[in-house]
Amino acid sequence: MHLDLVKLEKKFQSSVLTKIKDPLLDQYQIELWMKRDDLLHPIISGNKWRKLKYIFDHVLSLKKESIISMGGAWSNHLHALAFIGKTLGLKTSGIIRGEQPENLNPTLSDLKDWDMDLLFVSRRDYRQLRQYKNYNELPGIHKHEYWLPEGGAIAFSLSGVQEMVAEIDHKFDVICVPCGTGATLAGIISAVSDKIRVLGFSALKNAEYLYTDVAKLLFENPQPRCTWTINMDYHFGGFAKTSEELLRFIDAFERQQGILLDHVYTGKMMYGLYDLIRQNRFQPGQRIIAVHTGGLQGKRGLE
Ligand SMILES: *Cc1c(COP(=O)(O)O)cnc(C)c1O
Repeated sequence: MHLDLVKLEKKFQSSVLTKIKDPLLDQYQIELWMKRDDLLHPIISGNKWRKLKYIFDHVLSLKKESIISMGGAWSNHLHALAFIGKTLGLKTSGIIRGEQPENLNPTLSDLKDWDMDLLFVSRRDYRQLRQYKNYNELPGIHKHEYWLPEGGAIAFSLSGVQEMVAEIDHKFDVICVPCGTGATLAGIISAVSDKIRVLGFSALKNAEYLYTDVAKLLFENPQPRCTWTINMDYHFGGFAKTSEELLRFIDAFERQQGILLDHVYTGKMMYGLYDLIRQNRFQPGQRIIAVHTGGLQGKRGLE
């Protein structure tokens, strides 16, 4: 790996396993642990480091000067990308969905502070950009630039996620993760053994296409041996949509466990997981790991 990346990672905190204590878990005889990728770095959101690590390594080895990617106005992906780019001395550009707001929100101001070039495009144009899947495919791209599709969901993103799984030094039966593009889920699927059940929770509505996307990401890997499914029932109306009930759940969880949850990904996953436990969807004695993928910078959107 490139030395600058090694140096950056040396400053990280370790992502420990935290045992969740809750009478509900005792009642259903479930052992629940959280893999705390939210602790890795105060700015670089958990799974975004896992996904971007080997992408940056690849970009550096290609001797590119800049990375262009895309995301929403609260994008954890662009937030991590801009910060890592700034740290490594690589230029970054972000194509942002929607009109430029009069006042930049905290996420967009951070991107600016870290010298990311921002280009605001209509929702329609934004959707169009999703068709470009390869690093040199973006129309008008220069030789020294690297195009990274939405969410960094390319095959290179799986290796870092596999490292996250390898760190888990505890036996478990089920592993849960929230899904946006499904790349983190794909990384986990490609890394666990055959007896493990992998459960993704979609943060988006109408996300059945995730099955195809995840299968495509897994294509270059050996066929997965585990059982994996994506639960579609806990999107709360769509991406980044919330409800009183969800916010109350997050608030109670944070107070009881001392672990912050974002309302876009991990909050919805934990709500869903608790709900499934109550529906007896796990067997007594099972050990579950829920991956805390970070995303806490996005909580500023709730204020
Ligand atoms: C981006 C993100 C996800 C989704 O990851 P994918 O690999 O795109 O599925 C989950 N949780 C958090 C906190 C994220 O920022």
